[in-house]
Amino acid sequence: MALSQIPRIPLAHLPTPLEYLPRLSEELGGPRILVKRDDCTGLALGGNKTRKLEFLIAEAQAQGADTIVTIGGVQSNHVRQTAAAAARVGLSCHLVLARAVPWDDPAYEVSGNVQLDHLLGAQVHLLPEGTDRDGALRRIARALRTNGRSPYVIPSGGSNAIGAMGYAACAVELEEQARAAGETIDYLIHATGSGGTQAGLIAGLHGADSQIQVLGIDITAAADEIAGKVRTIARDTSQALAQAKRPPRDALQVISGYAGSAYGMPTEQMRSAVRMAARLEGLILDPVYTGKAMAGLIDLVRQGRFSETETIVFLHTGGMPGLFAYNEYFRDETGA
Ligand SMILES: *Cc1c(COP(=O)(O)O)cnc(C)c1O
Repeated sequence: MALSQIPRIPLAHLPTPLEYLPRLSEELGGPRILVKRDDCTGLALGGNKTRKLEFLIAEAQAQGADTIVTIGGVQSNHVRQTAAAAARVGLSCHLVLARAVPWDDPAYEVSGNVQLDHLLGAQVHLLPEGTDRDGALRRIARALRTNGRSPYVIPSGGSNAIGAMGYAACAVELEEQARAAGETIDYLIHATGSGGTQAGLIAGLHGADSQIQVLGIDITAAADEIAGKVRTIARDTSQALAQAKRPPRDALQVISGYAGSAYGMPTEQMRSAVRMAARLEGLILDPVYTGKAMAGLIDLVRQGRFSETETIVFLHTGGMPGLFAYNEYFRDETGA
């Protein structure tokens, strides 16, 4: 099916801006660096999950669902945007939150995304440590059915072929935007976690015969596992779009080395990247995803991976509410 025929509801402010980062580009002395502002998708503080939810919520409505159920970590951005999307279309929402990060900032379980989940009126189920996540998700969906509800279950990160359509559409949007602005983009760099964003971009760019290469920076400390997920979802997305050929093998590039010890665990490189983007460009990143992806971008530029004549785009996937859950880690030298 063509992308334009797949059911979709409008949730995001689109197109998101494509902006030049002159001071960061100059500081690093390498390629021209632009940012694609998917932190500005507009729904409940924005982020990349909103594009996926345009397709996922449309499917839920087509199936006659009255309740949305999804799962994520305590500070999941996906969960927060899902709660907002459900509120926006008048569906009830159950969120299954797992304690996935051994991080003991006092703000971690009360501030940032989890604060917004409650504010958005979702029913929050906080799982005890060590609970089997998929089992818990199935149990909650079953209990809802037993109570006469019609739940629609969205996987972690909204990452399946339906959700990935949001990023297949983003690929087309970026190509059009670049053409109109007279920019030739060589690389698109972003944080990759549950795989749907990268998979959708790969399928969408492939369908548009684009020359842009996607570099997914692993933020999970399990790059091989992520690459496997991206490969599967990209293939499913390409197939659902009835593309004549599947994306080539070398379209899949997941870069490891910037995740630190585990998902959600801060790194010194991340903190300095977050400070650099803030102080040079007034651009706010997050500690879990975009800060680590920017740390990767900075390091790759410094290693000489790109030439000065090339243009790279950093896809800002959002996540800023998470910053407030790491309050203590960002206390400055000055105590500010
Ligand atoms: C979910 C998320 C990502 C990763 O996207 P996936 O589609 O899960 O790979 C990146 N950045 C932020 C801020 C996110 O919330």
